[in-house]
Amino acid sequence: MKRFFVCCLVMALLMTTGCGKVNNIQILSTVDTAMGTVISQTIYTEGHYNTGLEVLQTIRDLEKDLLSRRIESSEVYRVNHGAQGEEVLLSEELAVILEQSLSLWEKSEGAFDVTLGPLIEVWDIDSLAAGEHVEEFTVPTAETLREAKERCGSEHITLTREENEVTLSLQDNVTIDLGAVGKGVALDAVHDLLLRRTDVTAAVISAGGSILTYGRKPDGSAWKVGIVDPEDTSSTKGILTIKGSMCVSTSGDYERFVEIDGKRYHHILDPKTGYPAEGDVRSVTILSENGFESDALSTACFVLGVEKGLNLLSEYDAEGLFILRDGSVKMTEGMKKYYEP
Ligand code: AMP
Ligand code: MG
Repeated sequence: MKRFFVCCLVMALLMTTGCGKVNNIQILSTVDTAMGTVISQTIYTEGHYNTGLEVLQTIRDLEKDLLSRRIESSEVYRVNHGAQGEEVLLSEELAVILEQSLSLWEKSEGAFDVTLGPLIEVWDIDSLAAGEHVEEFTVPTAETLREAKERCGSEHITLTREENEVTLSLQDNVTIDLGAVGKGVALDAVHDLLLRRTDVTAAVISAGGSILTYGRKPDGSAWKVGIVDPEDTSSTKGILTIKGSMCVSTSGDYERFVEIDGKRYHHILDPKTGYPAEGDVRSVTILSENGFESDALSTACFVLGVEKGLNLLSEYDAEGLFILRDGSVKMTEGMKKYYEP
Protein backbone atom coordinates (compact mmCIF):
# COMPACT_ATOMS: atom_id res chain seq x y z
CA MET A 1 0.00 0.00 0.00
CA LYS A 2 1.30 3.49 -0.88
CA ARG A 3 0.75 6.56 1.20
CA PHE A 4 2.08 9.99 0.43
CA PHE A 5 2.10 13.12 2.46
CA VAL A 6 3.29 16.67 2.59
CA CYS A 7 3.16 18.55 5.85
CA CYS A 8 3.23 22.20 4.86
CA LEU A 9 2.78 23.83 8.22
CA VAL A 10 5.37 21.80 10.07
CA MET A 11 5.28 24.03 13.09
CA ALA A 12 2.10 25.13 14.73
CA LEU A 13 2.38 28.87 15.14
CA LEU A 14 0.60 30.08 18.20
CA MET A 15 -0.36 33.52 16.98
CA THR A 16 -3.22 35.85 16.28
CA THR A 17 -5.01 35.16 12.98
CA GLY A 18 -7.26 37.45 10.92
CA CYS A 19 -7.16 41.25 11.14
CA GLY A 20 -7.47 43.45 14.19
CA LYS A 21 -6.27 46.60 15.88
CA VAL A 22 -4.53 47.16 19.25
CA ASN A 23 -3.47 50.66 20.44
CA ASN A 24 -3.47 52.03 16.87
CA ILE A 25 -1.41 49.09 15.67
CA GLN A 26 -3.05 47.09 12.90
CA ILE A 27 -2.60 43.33 12.89
CA LEU A 28 -2.78 41.82 9.40
CA SER A 29 -2.70 38.06 8.82
CA THR A 30 -2.49 36.32 5.43
CA VAL A 31 -1.79 32.86 4.04
CA ASP A 32 -0.36 32.35 0.53
CA THR A 33 1.88 29.94 -1.33
CA ALA A 34 5.39 30.44 -2.70
CA MET A 35 8.51 28.26 -3.08
CA GLY A 36 6.21 25.24 -3.19
CA THR A 37 5.05 25.77 0.37
CA VAL A 38 2.67 27.76 2.56
CA ILE A 39 3.70 31.29 3.53
CA SER A 40 1.77 32.64 6.49
CA GLN A 41 2.29 36.10 7.87
CA THR A 42 1.07 38.23 10.74
CA ILE A 43 2.29 41.80 10.55
CA TYR A 44 1.83 44.49 13.22
CA THR A 45 1.93 47.94 11.64
CA GLU A 46 1.39 51.58 12.60
CA GLY A 47 1.07 52.58 8.92
CA HIS A 48 -1.06 51.84 5.92
CA TYR A 49 1.47 50.11 3.69
CA ASN A 50 0.83 46.64 2.42
CA THR A 51 4.07 45.13 3.65
CA GLY A 52 2.55 41.64 3.46
CA LEU A 53 2.43 41.88 -0.33
CA GLU A 54 6.04 43.06 -0.42
CA VAL A 55 7.06 40.12 1.77
CA LEU A 56 5.36 37.70 -0.61
CA GLN A 57 6.92 39.41 -3.64
CA THR A 58 10.37 39.24 -2.03
CA ILE A 59 10.04 35.47 -1.56
CA ARG A 60 8.65 34.91 -5.07
CA ASP A 61 11.38 37.06 -6.65
CA LEU A 62 14.08 35.14 -4.81
CA GLU A 63 12.69 31.88 -6.11
CA LYS A 64 12.33 33.19 -9.68
CA ASP A 65 15.59 35.14 -9.93
CA LEU A 66 17.99 33.24 -7.70
CA LEU A 67 17.14 29.93 -6.06
CA SER A 68 14.92 27.71 -8.19
CA ARG A 69 16.45 24.81 -10.07
CA ARG A 70 13.30 24.49 -12.18
CA ILE A 71 12.55 28.10 -13.25
CA GLU A 72 14.65 29.07 -16.29
CA SER A 73 15.11 32.70 -15.22
CA SER A 74 16.90 31.83 -11.96
CA GLU A 75 20.64 32.05 -11.41
CA VAL A 76 20.79 28.49 -10.05
CA TYR A 77 19.13 27.25 -13.26
CA ARG A 78 21.64 29.22 -15.35
CA VAL A 79 24.56 27.82 -13.38
CA ASN A 80 23.19 24.26 -13.58
CA HIS A 81 22.94 24.60 -17.36
CA GLY A 82 26.18 26.46 -18.00
CA ALA A 83 28.89 25.92 -15.40
CA GLN A 84 29.89 22.32 -16.24
CA GLY A 85 33.53 22.61 -17.19
CA GLU A 86 33.13 26.40 -17.58
CA GLU A 87 33.81 29.25 -15.16
CA VAL A 88 30.71 31.39 -14.62
CA LEU A 89 30.52 34.64 -12.71
CA LEU A 90 28.20 34.55 -9.68
CA SER A 91 26.12 37.27 -8.06
CA GLU A 92 27.42 38.15 -4.60
CA GLU A 93 24.18 36.75 -3.15
CA LEU A 94 24.64 33.28 -4.65
CA ALA A 95 28.39 33.38 -3.98
CA VAL A 96 27.82 33.89 -0.23
CA ILE A 97 25.17 31.14 -0.10
CA LEU A 98 27.54 28.69 -1.81
CA GLU A 99 30.54 29.68 0.32
CA GLN A 100 28.51 29.09 3.49
CA SER A 101 27.14 25.83 2.06
CA LEU A 102 30.62 24.52 1.24
CA SER A 103 31.82 25.46 4.71
CA LEU A 104 28.92 23.50 6.25
CA TRP A 105 29.60 20.58 3.89
CA GLU A 106 33.12 20.38 5.32
CA LYS A 107 32.09 20.86 8.94
CA SER A 108 29.31 18.26 8.62
CA GLU A 109 31.71 15.82 6.93
CA GLY A 110 29.53 15.78 3.82
CA ALA A 111 26.15 15.25 5.55
CA PHE A 112 24.95 18.59 4.20
CA ASP A 113 25.54 18.80 0.47
CA VAL A 114 24.02 21.19 -2.11
CA THR A 115 24.97 18.93 -5.04
CA LEU A 116 22.42 16.16 -4.38
CA GLY A 117 20.23 17.18 -7.37
CA PRO A 118 20.69 13.87 -9.27
CA LEU A 119 19.71 11.81 -6.19
CA ILE A 120 16.83 14.16 -5.37
CA GLU A 121 15.53 13.72 -8.94
CA VAL A 122 15.81 9.94 -8.79
CA TRP A 123 13.79 9.80 -5.55
CA ASP A 124 11.51 12.72 -6.54
CA ILE A 125 9.92 12.70 -3.07
CA ASP A 126 8.90 16.37 -3.27
CA SER A 127 6.50 15.94 -6.18
CA LEU A 128 5.34 12.55 -4.91
CA ALA A 129 4.55 14.08 -1.55
CA ALA A 130 2.59 16.78 -3.34
CA GLY A 131 0.46 13.99 -4.80
CA GLU A 132 1.93 13.95 -8.33
CA HIS A 133 2.27 10.56 -10.15
CA VAL A 134 2.44 8.75 -6.80
CA GLU A 135 1.16 5.53 -8.37
CA GLU A 136 4.40 5.28 -10.36
CA PHE A 137 6.68 5.36 -7.33
CA THR A 138 9.08 2.48 -6.90
CA VAL A 139 12.23 2.46 -4.79
CA PRO A 140 15.15 3.26 -7.15
CA THR A 141 17.43 0.30 -7.89
CA ALA A 142 20.90 0.14 -6.33
CA GLU A 143 22.40 0.67 -9.81
CA THR A 144 20.31 3.83 -10.42
CA LEU A 145 21.31 5.20 -7.03
CA ARG A 146 24.97 4.38 -7.64
CA GLU A 147 24.92 6.26 -10.96
CA ALA A 148 23.15 9.27 -9.41
CA LYS A 149 25.56 9.29 -6.45
CA GLU A 150 28.54 9.52 -8.80
CA ARG A 151 27.23 12.88 -9.99
CA CYS A 152 26.90 14.22 -6.42
CA GLY A 153 29.48 15.66 -4.04
CA SER A 154 30.58 19.21 -3.23
CA GLU A 155 34.16 18.22 -4.05
CA HIS A 156 33.00 18.62 -7.69
CA ILE A 157 32.42 22.36 -7.15
CA THR A 158 35.19 24.92 -7.67
CA LEU A 159 34.42 28.31 -6.18
CA THR A 160 37.03 31.05 -6.57
CA ARG A 161 36.91 34.48 -4.94
CA GLU A 162 39.27 37.08 -6.35
CA GLU A 163 38.89 40.68 -5.26
CA ASN A 164 35.12 41.21 -5.52
CA GLU A 165 34.47 38.58 -8.17
CA VAL A 166 33.41 35.04 -7.47
CA THR A 167 33.43 32.38 -10.18
CA LEU A 168 32.05 28.87 -10.11
CA SER A 169 32.67 25.81 -12.19
CA LEU A 170 31.08 22.39 -11.85
CA GLN A 171 32.31 19.05 -13.04
CA ASP A 172 30.29 17.41 -15.81
CA ASN A 173 26.70 16.47 -14.86
CA VAL A 174 26.98 18.11 -11.41
CA THR A 175 24.18 20.49 -10.36
CA ILE A 176 23.25 22.71 -7.42
CA ASP A 177 20.08 22.22 -5.31
CA LEU A 178 19.31 24.80 -2.61
CA GLY A 179 16.14 23.10 -1.33
CA ALA A 180 17.63 22.76 2.15
CA VAL A 181 18.30 26.49 2.58
CA GLY A 182 15.86 28.37 0.31
CA LYS A 183 13.30 29.16 2.99
CA GLY A 184 15.97 30.35 5.39
CA VAL A 185 17.53 32.57 2.73
CA ALA A 186 14.04 33.94 2.01
CA LEU A 187 13.49 34.75 5.69
CA ASP A 188 16.81 36.64 5.83
CA ALA A 189 15.65 38.76 2.87
CA VAL A 190 12.27 39.32 4.53
CA HIS A 191 14.04 40.35 7.75
CA ASP A 192 16.03 42.98 5.80
CA LEU A 193 12.81 44.24 4.25
CA LEU A 194 11.04 44.53 7.63
CA LEU A 195 13.99 46.50 9.06
CA ARG A 196 13.44 49.07 6.28
CA ARG A 197 9.68 49.33 6.95
CA THR A 198 9.64 51.57 10.02
CA ASP A 199 5.85 51.32 10.36
CA VAL A 200 6.17 47.58 11.09
CA THR A 201 6.60 47.09 14.83
CA ALA A 202 6.44 43.29 14.85
CA ALA A 203 5.82 40.33 12.57
CA VAL A 204 5.87 36.56 12.42
CA ILE A 205 6.40 35.00 9.00
CA SER A 206 6.43 31.27 8.34
CA ALA A 207 7.70 29.63 5.14
CA GLY A 208 7.24 25.85 5.28
CA GLY A 209 9.45 24.56 8.08
CA SER A 210 11.06 27.93 8.79
CA ILE A 211 9.72 30.79 10.89
CA LEU A 212 10.92 34.36 11.43
CA THR A 213 9.83 36.24 14.53
CA TYR A 214 10.43 39.99 14.39
CA GLY A 215 10.10 42.85 16.88
CA ARG A 216 7.78 43.05 19.87
CA LYS A 217 4.04 42.51 20.02
CA PRO A 218 2.01 45.57 21.22
CA ASP A 219 1.48 44.00 24.66
CA GLY A 220 5.20 43.18 24.95
CA SER A 221 4.57 39.44 25.26
CA ALA A 222 6.96 36.89 23.75
CA TRP A 223 6.41 34.83 20.58
CA LYS A 224 5.31 31.24 21.11
CA VAL A 225 6.39 28.73 18.45
CA GLY A 226 5.10 25.17 18.74
CA ILE A 227 7.30 22.21 17.79
CA VAL A 228 5.36 19.49 16.00
CA ASP A 229 5.21 16.03 17.59
CA PRO A 230 6.45 13.68 14.82
CA GLU A 231 4.30 10.87 16.31
CA ASP A 232 1.16 12.98 15.94
CA THR A 233 1.70 15.90 13.57
CA SER A 234 -1.58 17.51 14.62
CA SER A 235 -0.17 18.19 18.08
CA THR A 236 2.91 19.85 19.53
CA LYS A 237 5.71 18.27 21.53
CA GLY A 238 6.67 21.54 23.17
CA ILE A 239 6.84 25.31 22.81
CA LEU A 240 9.67 27.77 22.24
CA THR A 241 9.27 31.17 23.87
CA ILE A 242 11.17 33.77 21.86
CA LYS A 243 11.69 37.49 22.36
CA GLY A 244 12.50 39.67 19.35
CA SER A 245 13.95 38.64 16.00
CA MET A 246 14.93 34.99 15.53
CA CYS A 247 14.65 32.23 12.95
CA VAL A 248 13.38 28.76 13.80
CA SER A 249 13.71 25.92 11.25
CA THR A 250 12.63 22.32 11.56
CA SER A 251 13.62 19.34 9.39
CA GLY A 252 11.58 16.20 9.98
CA ASP A 253 10.79 12.85 8.39
CA TYR A 254 7.06 13.70 8.49
CA GLU A 255 7.30 16.81 6.31
CA ARG A 256 7.41 15.19 2.86
CA PHE A 257 7.32 11.45 2.46
CA VAL A 258 5.96 8.41 0.68
CA GLU A 259 5.11 5.23 2.57
CA ILE A 260 5.16 1.78 0.93
CA ASP A 261 4.21 -1.33 2.87
CA GLY A 262 4.89 0.46 6.15
CA LYS A 263 8.34 1.75 5.12
CA ARG A 264 8.74 5.52 5.00
CA TYR A 265 10.82 7.27 2.31
CA HIS A 266 11.23 10.94 3.21
CA HIS A 267 12.87 13.93 1.53
CA ILE A 268 16.15 14.34 3.49
CA LEU A 269 18.86 12.21 1.93
CA ASP A 270 22.04 10.82 3.42
CA PRO A 271 24.75 11.63 0.86
CA LYS A 272 26.80 8.64 2.07
CA THR A 273 24.12 6.04 1.27
CA GLY A 274 21.97 7.83 -1.32
CA TYR A 275 18.88 6.77 0.69
CA PRO A 276 16.64 8.86 2.98
CA ALA A 277 18.63 9.45 6.18
CA GLU A 278 17.94 6.76 8.78
CA GLY A 279 19.50 8.23 11.88
CA ASP A 280 18.29 8.30 15.47
CA VAL A 281 16.14 11.43 15.05
CA ARG A 282 12.66 12.16 13.70
CA SER A 283 13.07 15.93 13.69
CA VAL A 284 15.59 18.66 14.42
CA THR A 285 14.66 22.26 15.26
CA ILE A 286 17.29 24.99 15.09
CA LEU A 287 17.07 28.48 16.57
CA SER A 288 19.40 31.15 15.16
CA GLU A 289 19.47 34.86 14.39
CA ASN A 290 20.28 33.86 10.82
CA GLY A 291 17.73 32.17 8.52
CA PHE A 292 20.29 30.49 6.27
CA GLU A 293 21.98 28.94 9.29
CA SER A 294 18.79 27.75 10.95
CA ASP A 295 17.57 26.11 7.72
CA ALA A 296 20.91 24.61 6.67
CA LEU A 297 21.76 23.34 10.15
CA SER A 298 18.37 21.67 10.66
CA THR A 299 18.95 19.60 7.50
CA ALA A 300 22.59 18.87 8.39
CA CYS A 301 21.77 17.83 11.98
CA PHE A 302 18.91 15.62 10.80
CA VAL A 303 21.36 13.61 8.69
CA LEU A 304 24.08 13.61 11.36
CA GLY A 305 21.88 12.52 14.28
CA VAL A 306 22.09 13.70 17.89
CA GLU A 307 25.71 13.18 18.86
CA LYS A 308 27.40 14.54 15.75
CA GLY A 309 24.66 17.15 15.34
CA LEU A 310 25.32 18.57 18.82
CA ASN A 311 29.05 18.67 18.03
CA LEU A 312 28.37 20.55 14.81
CA LEU A 313 26.16 23.08 16.59
CA SER A 314 28.98 23.93 18.99
CA GLU A 315 30.74 25.51 15.98
CA TYR A 316 27.79 27.83 15.26
CA ASP A 317 25.92 30.52 17.16
CA ALA A 318 22.75 28.42 17.07
CA GLU A 319 20.67 26.27 19.42
CA GLY A 320 19.20 22.89 18.51
CA LEU A 321 16.49 20.50 19.68
CA PHE A 322 16.32 16.87 18.54
CA ILE A 323 13.22 14.66 18.81
CA LEU A 324 14.39 11.05 18.85
CA ARG A 325 12.71 7.89 17.55
CA ASP A 326 11.78 6.82 21.08
CA GLY A 327 10.01 10.17 21.61
CA SER A 328 12.65 11.61 23.92
CA VAL A 329 14.03 15.12 23.42
CA LYS A 330 17.69 16.19 23.45
CA MET A 331 18.87 19.77 23.13
CA THR A 332 21.80 22.15 23.44
CA GLU A 333 22.28 23.78 26.85
CA GLY A 334 21.29 27.15 25.40
CA MET A 335 17.98 25.82 24.02
CA LYS A 336 16.78 24.98 27.52
CA LYS A 337 15.88 28.59 28.29
CA TYR A 338 13.52 28.73 25.27
CA TYR A 339 11.84 25.31 25.47
CA GLU A 340 9.06 23.94 27.62
CA PRO A 341 7.37 20.58 26.99
P1 AMP B 1 14.81 20.70 4.73
O1 AMP B 1 13.36 20.38 4.68
O2 AMP B 1 15.14 22.15 4.99
O3 AMP B 1 15.57 19.80 5.64
O4 AMP B 1 15.39 20.48 3.26
C1 AMP B 1 15.17 19.29 2.56
C2 AMP B 1 15.43 19.55 1.09
O5 AMP B 1 16.85 19.76 0.90
C3 AMP B 1 15.09 18.34 0.21
O6 AMP B 1 13.77 18.45 -0.30
C4 AMP B 1 16.16 18.42 -0.88
O7 AMP B 1 15.80 19.37 -1.87
C5 AMP B 1 17.37 18.96 -0.13
N1 AMP B 1 18.20 17.93 0.54
C6 AMP B 1 17.88 16.64 0.87
N2 AMP B 1 18.88 16.06 1.55
C7 AMP B 1 19.88 16.97 1.66
C8 AMP B 1 21.20 16.99 2.25
N3 AMP B 1 21.69 15.91 2.88
N4 AMP B 1 21.94 18.13 2.13
C9 AMP B 1 21.47 19.21 1.50
N5 AMP B 1 20.24 19.27 0.91
C10 AMP B 1 19.45 18.18 1.00
MG1 MG C 1 16.77 23.02 5.93
